[in-house]
Parts: sequence; structure tokens; C-alpha cells
Amino acid sequence: MSAADISSQIPENLKCIIFDMDGVLYDSMKNHEKSWTACFKNIGIDFPAYDAYLYEGKPGHHTIQEVIKKHLNRDASADEAEAVYQDKVKYMSQLPTPVFCPGMDKLLPLLRKEGLAVWVVTGSKQPTLLNKLGADFGMDPAHIISAKDVINGKPHPEPYLKAVAGSGFKASQCLVVENAPLGVKASKAADIFTIAVNTGILKPEVLKNAGADIVLPGTEPLISIFENYLKI
Ligand code: MG
Repeated sequence: MSAADISSQIPENLKCIIFDMDGVLYDSMKNHEKSWTACFKNIGIDFPAYDAYLYEGKPGHHTIQEVIKKHLNRDASADEAEAVYQDKVKYMSQLPTPVFCPGMDKLLPLLRKEGLAVWVVTGSKQPTLLNKLGADFGMDPAHIISAKDVINGKPHPEPYLKAVAGSGFKASQCLVVENAPLGVKASKAADIFTIAVNTGILKPEVLKNAGADIVLPGTEPLISIFENYLKI
């Protein structure tokens, strides 16, 4: 399908584009995959790489509790979950800083230039990337919703509802770009048109089944799709 065909599916009169961070702005999911695999291995769990992409978006402690329940058939104490989480943070800090997903450093300024509001909604609370959003993508800190700002993480709609409320626009005037099935579910539960970018190793139907309105094979096509949409 051409960029023009895809852009014709996008609702008219959008005012605000909301981006997820990991796997959408930064090509960081490989780091999450490696860190999850390593920290779970330390407690005797053979965590499949594919699952790192399925759980993505969920708060870290919830992922740890669910994985321990699933693989070890028992509950994790809060202390144990915290220890595994800190182990994961340690592995993440040892990995190279991820590069941008293709084209995203150009897309965000282009959207702002055309008068659209740009927000970031992420389940992350790791400062490594959160602190770089300003310098790398021109993000205003007031336009970032992170794990620190919500009670309920993705797939709950709260993070996206908070961005919509903060933007001052209606959900129908917003569009979300997500790479994770749970992120797509959160966005759709907030009633927002959602483009999924399959930047990881998931089967594309997983993103479609999560409710994505459009599934793209990566971030590359976004610029030409938005150029078509904005007629620039
Ligand atoms: Mg993501």
C-alpha cells in the first residue's frame, strides 16, 4: 500500500501526535531483551526473547511478578521483584546507548513545524533515555508522561488518557505511534487512532490483533505518510 493510501486512512484534523519511546523513538528494545533475559537467567528462568516484546510497556515490577508466577509457579515478594528490577537496570546501564529509530529525529521537528503538538508516553522510568528526550527530540518535559506520572501502566489507558488531557485536545484529535501490543491496547482503550510500527521481532498480526488501526513494518514509512497527510 502506498504512503498516500495509508495516509487516507488517518482521521482528519489531527492536532496531537503521541509517541511511545522504546522501540519507536529509540531502537532500544534489543537492550531490554538482553537485560530481561540476563536478569531472569540469574534467578533460574529461561526467558524467551520474544516475550520481552510481548511484555513491553508494562511496568517492570509487574513484568517480573508475572514472569516469576508463570515460570516458577509462585508469587514474588516485593523485595525479590525489586532486586530483579535493580539487576535489570544494572544490565541496561552497561549496554550501548541505543540509536534513533530510522527517521524519527526528522519526523518530530517536521510535525511541530506543521503546528501539531508532540507528546511522549512511555512505561519507562529509566533516566538514561528519558533525560535525553529534550536534546535528542526537542521534547518539552511537560509533554512527557512516564511511569512516574501514572498509577496504572500500559495496557491500562491511563498513560494515554493523561497525555490527551494534558494536550487539551480530544482523543479523536490525537494519534498514537506504538510498537508494543500492550501499548496498542492502552492507546485503543483510550479511544485513540493508533499506528503500530513493528520495529522488533513480533509477528505483525500480534499488533493487528491488539487493535492497531495501521501496522507498518518499521518507522521508515512514517515521514512519507505524514507528508502525504499534511500535504507537504
Ligand atoms: Mg515501545
